Amino acid sequence: MSVTELVEKNNIIFGPINSRRFGVSLGIDLSPGFKQCNFDCLYCELAPSATVAQQLQSISVTQIIEALQQHLDDKIDVITLTANGEPTLYPYLNELIEALNTIKGNTQILILSNSATLHDDKVYQALLKLDQVKLSLDAVSADIFKKIDRPHSSVKIDTIITKLQQFSKDFQGKLFIEILFVKGLNDTKEEIAKLNEVLCSIDATRIDLGTIDRPPAYPVEAISYEELHQLAQLFESTLPVHIASRKGTLPTPQSYTDEEILNTLDKRPLTLEDIELLFDKKSQQRVQEMFNKGIITRKQMGSVDFFIPTNNLNRKRLKPTF
Ligand code: SF4
Repeated sequence: MSVTELVEKNNIIFGPINSRRFGVSLGIDLSPGFKQCNFDCLYCELAPSATVAQQLQSISVTQIIEALQQHLDDKIDVITLTANGEPTLYPYLNELIEALNTIKGNTQILILSNSATLHDDKVYQALLKLDQVKLSLDAVSADIFKKIDRPHSSVKIDTIITKLQQFSKDFQGKLFIEILFVKGLNDTKEEIAKLNEVLCSIDATRIDLGTIDRPPAYPVEAISYEELHQLAQLFESTLPVHIASRKGTLPTPQSYTDEEILNTLDKRPLTLEDIELLFDKKSQQRVQEMFNKGIITRKQMGSVDFFIPTNNLNRKRLKPTF
């Protein structure tokens, strides 16, 4: 099947969708025909497939821009570069980003990447031109990384970590890190301690913790919302950690005193949704009262609002050193 036929059969542009994490998002699929990825993640919502180090078939920048022109009047916050697979494998990424930057107006441009191509200077330099970048880091131990993400043989986790640290230093836009937890693999205290150490050396706008919420490519299990919340507590409290996964979670709201609420928010800022899942009605009223009195305040990380103790507004994390 030719690329033209593929494009006619498949949409390059999708949405807009209202993304809780990134706002109203119009998606561009940089591999609309079929999956082309340098990972074969256990949790992928696409079918399993052999990894590739580069795209085997690609659409042109002109095709993408022409498809996008028809949607530019839509009210959108962000144009999201994504793919059936890994969008940074798209060979004309730099040209595309430069073209988008000339027509985007006030709209932000975001890419959702698995981080594996940061070692490629062409990709690295292209990503620096974006407004927002989401990079995945599911594990830092080589064996766990290989088990979960099943990368192409050319991909090494140590290189990813080094490049991620460097990128967070060089990038001027909003950097989001995403960790997806798979039961029994990267949810151990040991792996979280290692992830925590690396995350403390990265200057991220927000760190999204999630778990499987769609049928996965392989028979693996999600962790529960409660487990996700417990794992979140294990990270350094000054890291901008956010629990991103909600689907299929059964809330078990508990009663919290004022002091317990402040302690919880001190350790881990919570969204309104977190508060509704974790706190019973009376505790939610306590949160409201403390908010009205100015004891608790709202702080935005990326496009998500968090509640934190007002005293923490001045608390700063040390800049990464490496
Ligand atoms: S990086 Fe994304 S597209 Fe590629 S296998 Fe993993 S989840 Fe699927």
